[in-house]
Amino acid sequence: MPGRKKKRRVIKTAHEIPKRRKRAIEEALAAHEPANNPDWDRGAEWAPLRFMRKRIGPGSFRTVHVPLLNVSMGDQWPIPVTVFHGSRPGPTINILGAVHGDELTGPSACTHLLSTKFTEPGGALDPETMAGTVRIIPVVNLPGFRSKSRYLPDGRDLNRSFPGSPTSNTTRRVAHQLWTTLMEDADAIIDFHTAAKGRSNMPQVRVNLAHPASYLLAKAFGAEVVLDSEPPRGSLRRAANEEGIPCITYEGGAADTLQQSAVKIAFEGALNVLRSLKMIPGRPARPAFRLLASGSRWLRASEGGLLDVFVREGTMMREGDVVATISDPGSPGMSVDIVAPEDGLMISIATNPFVTAGMPVGHFLPLNKHSSLVGRHVDEEGRLQMAAAKGDPIWREEQDVEEVTVEESTSEEAEWVTAVFDLEQEEKEEADSDPLPDQEADS
Ligand SMILES: [Zn+2]
Repeated sequence: MPGRKKKRRVIKTAHEIPKRRKRAIEEALAAHEPANNPDWDRGAEWAPLRFMRKRIGPGSFRTVHVPLLNVSMGDQWPIPVTVFHGSRPGPTINILGAVHGDELTGPSACTHLLSTKFTEPGGALDPETMAGTVRIIPVVNLPGFRSKSRYLPDGRDLNRSFPGSPTSNTTRRVAHQLWTTLMEDADAIIDFHTAAKGRSNMPQVRVNLAHPASYLLAKAFGAEVVLDSEPPRGSLRRAANEEGIPCITYEGGAADTLQQSAVKIAFEGALNVLRSLKMIPGRPARPAFRLLASGSRWLRASEGGLLDVFVREGTMMREGDVVATISDPGSPGMSVDIVAPEDGLMISIATNPFVTAGMPVGHFLPLNKHSSLVGRHVDEEGRLQMAAAKGDPIWREEQDVEEVTVEESTSEEAEWVTAVFDLEQEEKEEADSDPLPDQEADS
């Protein structure tokens, strides 16, 4: 546009992802074409929704029960699903918790979203001002939730059983029922988890960055820490990605506990996604920086005994900092320190003080050259600050996000790039690995 100054801004980018992975992500992004969905246009026909033989009119919401098992005898394990049917056309988004029954961040975040603060007229999830359909499923694995267990009653892991089978074991039948009634027609899925028993996770999004629609979903969520990972076999994320459905897993906190900051980041992230998709009014919040990481390592106990942990999940470590000390009541006077092998972030930390040699004490994300950038965003206790955990979300534009990519790799292969970003060509410039000089310019 002549006469109009185009805003330019320097964004620090670093690529230390293994070359092959980096290429796969770049190729996937380059080949990605945004979905063209004419049925989401404002003028498209938008009818009442039929779900489990219940009618949900445009601009309304309703809680419907979905049985986990299709049986005429015995418990069907009905779970509540609250369906918001907006007044205008748009995509269908699933927000769910407690696929693992003892992981309470999701149920709590979903419960917040279903509170009148959000659902009343003028609230963020007021169906009158909503486009598309939002399905909130606070507790997917209700039998596990009731028995405070990760698993379904047959002892199997639901998140290793998707897309399931109607004739296989109980858990796979449940997976099949969930998949066919709730998942396979979704346009995106946000799956809330916590660390498994014995550990606590800092808030983070797990996503396959080579699945472009999921990559965009992860960005829209607005979390500071995004871990690139291929989804485990049988996970909902994998089944969804294989069918082309974008899906992210959010991890925050620990099993059997409620950590309010992890809960807040979860529901703020879900709202960010809905805002980014223009399904609800308002602008999505953006973090001050974004850490894209792939590759991490477990710090393991070298000896057995009692573990004294000095840091929490999300603590920024300097090389040589003591993470934990192991002592043994059977060998008084002896102790062993576990130290950070280099600068990095404790993305997960053990909460169970009993250790034997080889047990993971923490999940460590080496930061290589980016520790100073990340170090600028820690609080007095040395923990990474998450914007969404604070009182009010900090509103930022996408272009103000400092993005770094971290991979544990041999530093000889590492490339360090400080690039000038043309805001309208962010993805293109991101793919550019030629070093460019620092500069700030108007054009
Ligand atoms: Zn889980």
